[in-house]
Amino acid sequence: MKKIIVAIDGFSSCGKSTMAKELAREAGYVYVDTGAMYRAVSLFCIQNGWMTDSEINAKELEKHIHSIRIEFKTNAEGVSETYLNGKNVESEIRSLEVANGASRVSTLGFVRRELVRQQQFMGVEKGIVMDGRDIGTVVFPMAELKIFLTASPEIRAKRRMDEMTAKGETVNYEDVLANVIERDDRDQNRTESPLRKADDAVVIDNSSLTREEQRGILRTLFAERTL
Ligand code: C5P
Repeated sequence: MKKIIVAIDGFSSCGKSTMAKELAREAGYVYVDTGAMYRAVSLFCIQNGWMTDSEINAKELEKHIHSIRIEFKTNAEGVSETYLNGKNVESEIRSLEVANGASRVSTLGFVRRELVRQQQFMGVEKGIVMDGRDIGTVVFPMAELKIFLTASPEIRAKRRMDEMTAKGETVNYEDVLANVIERDDRDQNRTESPLRKADDAVVIDNSSLTREEQRGILRTLFAERTL
């Protein structure tokens, strides 16, 4: 069976990472969550006091961009976790504040160039499932399988809220929905690598698909591409 690159792009909270992780586990592939990388850069800015509600200190961030080391390590339960400069930041990067900052730092060209370089390096040997916004268009335009995952903003906000509530966080549906819409808008309208479907990507709208139905579609597509 030939080894391929699977690129999964789409809006936030569509279930890209769940889909990507499952496929990677089944196929014995490496899974890379590129959103976690932008979140780690956002956290780095917050920790250094370079991000306020109104601006990012892009000058300082650019000076230090090469000192940001992002790694993924699998924990005892087999779950991949994000490390920033050697420290496990997996739970810290999942907050709304960090997510919002990630969507802001991701508009900066020098941040994208550095993270794309690291992502391309991770895929040199193929056998990788990567999810994000620009994987099929910029990081791996030659990926053998490209998926563009989508669902309505309301459904995505509800899913995100359920996830956060399950972790014990108190969140308000209207705030989460506003955050989803704001991030969609920024992702689609930024000048640097805006979110768009690659011409050869397969669109999956999972608003009304069950997990099992979605799994079936993906398995078929993966099997076709690895023959
Ligand atoms: O996917 P996730 O919600 O974790 O991504 C956080 C933010 O990082 C997104 O809102 C998006 O702006 C940005 N991002 C990106 N390009 C990627 C992955 C994420 O711009 N490849």
